[in-house]
Amino acid sequence: MQNVVLFGPPGAGKGTQSALIIEKFHLIHLSTGDLLRSEIAAQSPLGIQAKSLMDAGILVPDAVVIGMIASRLEAHPEAQGFIFDGFPRTIAQAEALDELLAGYHSKISRMISLVVPEQELKQRLMLRGKALGRSDDNEETILKRIHEYQEKTLPVAGYYKASDKYFEISGVGTVEEIFGRISQLLETPTI
Ligand code: ADP
Repeated sequence: MQNVVLFGPPGAGKGTQSALIIEKFHLIHLSTGDLLRSEIAAQSPLGIQAKSLMDAGILVPDAVVIGMIASRLEAHPEAQGFIFDGFPRTIAQAEALDELLAGYHSKISRMISLVVPEQELKQRLMLRGKALGRSDDNEETILKRIHEYQEKTLPVAGYYKASDKYFEISGVGTVEEIFGRISQLLETPTI
């Protein structure tokens, strides 16, 4: 089983690359951002609670996203592996994920971190806000999300570095170029 954490700041291209990865490597895509947005669209109590936080660029509580991931793992007993996109975003989430996977006699194979300069990230997010109308892609929220990332999410890289699962690639270039770099990594067997 190949379980991959795709890591990087908001706008790094995790969603775009995930779509290509699941097709080639037959993994199941679990994006907490997408799961939260479908809760919002369904106007569920969870969605209503999450919306104001997301619109402000603040992380939703760990228990909420951990619960969502737990139920998605349970829903896919047939999976050959998962790609986690936008999760774990805190150390507590990373620890919970290890525990959940251990319950399936599984573990994270590696973390792939997409590195993109901050100026380019801001530009990409502003463009996405215009193109897709995502309510959290405006200047004020973008700055808050980058701040949350630096404060709470960056330490998660250290968590995977400590177990030698951390791999960094450049997230700058064409979608195909970046996918080529990711593929090369995923085609290398893990120990
Ligand atoms: P991006 O990576 O572009 O910021 P996402 O779609 O991954 O976009 O996340 C959008 C928002 O959803 C975040 O700003 C946060 O409020 C919430 N969110 C998504 N995943 C998590 C998570 N794992 N933990 C806490 N909040 C999350």
